[in-house]
Amino acid sequence: MDRSCSSKPNPPTLPVVPLGGTHRASLAGHRQKGHRQKGHRQGVSLLGAHAVRLGFVLLLALLSGCAPPAPNRTSPESPDKPSVVATSTIIEDLTERVGGDEIQLTGILKPGADPHVYEPVPADSIALEKAKLILYNGYNLEPGLIKLMKAAGVRARQVPVGETVKPLQLEKKGEKVPDPHVWGDVENVIAMVSAIRDALIELSPEDREKFTQNAARLTGELTQLDTWINEQLATLPADKRRLVTTHDAFQYYARAYGLEVVGTLIGISTEEQPSAQTVRKLVEAVKAAGVPAIFAETTINPALIKTVAEEARVKLAPKQLYSDSIGAAGSEGDSYIKMMVANTRAIVDALGGKSAPFEPVAAPIAVLSLCEVLRNPVS
Ligand SMILES: [Zn+2]
Repeated sequence: MDRSCSSKPNPPTLPVVPLGGTHRASLAGHRQKGHRQKGHRQGVSLLGAHAVRLGFVLLLALLSGCAPPAPNRTSPESPDKPSVVATSTIIEDLTERVGGDEIQLTGILKPGADPHVYEPVPADSIALEKAKLILYNGYNLEPGLIKLMKAAGVRARQVPVGETVKPLQLEKKGEKVPDPHVWGDVENVIAMVSAIRDALIELSPEDREKFTQNAARLTGELTQLDTWINEQLATLPADKRRLVTTHDAFQYYARAYGLEVVGTLIGISTEEQPSAQTVRKLVEAVKAAGVPAIFAETTINPALIKTVAEEARVKLAPKQLYSDSIGAAGSEGDSYIKMMVANTRAIVDALGGKSAPFEPVAAPIAVLSLCEVLRNPVS
């Protein structure tokens, strides 16, 4: 059977830290203190000499959230094509692959923008009101846009593509909430591609064959990507499969590919800012775990995670991870697949493994269609 039909290999047997484990609970406990200023002041008195420096980087982190929102992007206007809006850059990229030239696609978030804190601009309202179909991530990844699309005047069908998959439940302010970063597991994205295909077919039934072929081709590449990620992670010794990132966006990735998330500066939403105590705890956790490197992310100011690396005397990995957005056009992560490749290579190489390039084989459509049948047998 063609490689693209192979089933997912078992991930390495390293036990993944249970959600809500000791370290996670302690971080969450600090987040529960609520108001950031309060946590900051408490921490400053504990940190003594580091106070001024931490205050400075916290200020930088705050200022990073003040950048003006960028306008959205639309493919060339065409009155005969149905208008589709995608919220996140990841959903936009997948939709572009499945919809091809048959739809007029508008992406709202710009590559590199942080969906958690994005504040819509008037152009977004206009795009949502003109749309026939809105595809969004859901599980509250993009709260500002979700609020806007539920407003009066938006009549398009709204499909939360990410909510196609069963979520991990993580703690936020003392409550269990679904983790929106579902794309970390490529198998989830394969399900999301099917959801996008079905929504587009319902929107434009005459293009069924085109959407089905495009989705099958993309699914073939994703299946190979899933296998490739497992192969790269397998080059890491078991005691090096430990991840420290800026915000808690890699739980699905860790679970799917056998990594342990040792700790993060902030939780599953970047609306929260870490207290100085959280920073100190993370420094201790990084030292205790003995990881060779920790990671900044492209959608978040790296100042604070850089401080953690310096305090813990570990390397900040030379490449930032693409967490909640694909990279800008022309960057090495400017599509979902390229972002996952770039992240995997950055993680494997910084933690002491050896990654190889991802070279997918294009399978004939007939084989891909067979894969589809095997994945979704008619009952
Ligand atoms: Zn996130």
